[in-house]
Amino acid sequence: MRSIYEIDLEDLWRRGKRLILTDLDNTLVPWNHPQVPEKLADWLKMAHAKGFHVCIVSNNGEARVDAFARASGLPAVAGARKPKSTGFRMALERFQLPPEAAVMVGDQLFTDIQGANRLGMYSILVLPLDPKEWWGTKAVRMMERVALMMLRSRGLKRPHVVRVGRSEDGR
Ligand SMILES: [Mg+2]
Repeated sequence: MRSIYEIDLEDLWRRGKRLILTDLDNTLVPWNHPQVPEKLADWLKMAHAKGFHVCIVSNNGEARVDAFARASGLPAVAGARKPKSTGFRMALERFQLPPEAAVMVGDQLFTDIQGANRLGMYSILVLPLDPKEWWGTKAVRMMERVALMMLRSRGLKRPHVVRVGRSEDGR
């Protein structure tokens, strides 16, 4: 999925999901971006109106995460140490929900997605919002690209592409 805005909330609700756990940096807003864009505020309103809980689970520090939590009104777990399960569990406990009722949304395979999968939680990978980011994250992204290529070669297929070519007789 390209961004959180493409998530089919109705479908998640039908699948029994009630809690949307979300990464912060480069998933909701660009890295260390302090404000809540109007588009995001509208999306959160819509998700809440449908009945979802939305909670930030971020590896970033408390100062950053708490400031954004206040600005957005969202509950948050800071210093979550994804892909470790601690932060995910704290969030689940807060809402008294099992992993099956939650979905994790994030832009990083090795933290957001792997962490969720370890708990058997449904996960959604989105594209990072901003190319400007911490150098460590950049290095990890290169490894993620390699991992994705390996997964593809083991059967995770890209959508089938139908070749539109000339017919045999050249017309
Ligand atoms: Mg992120």
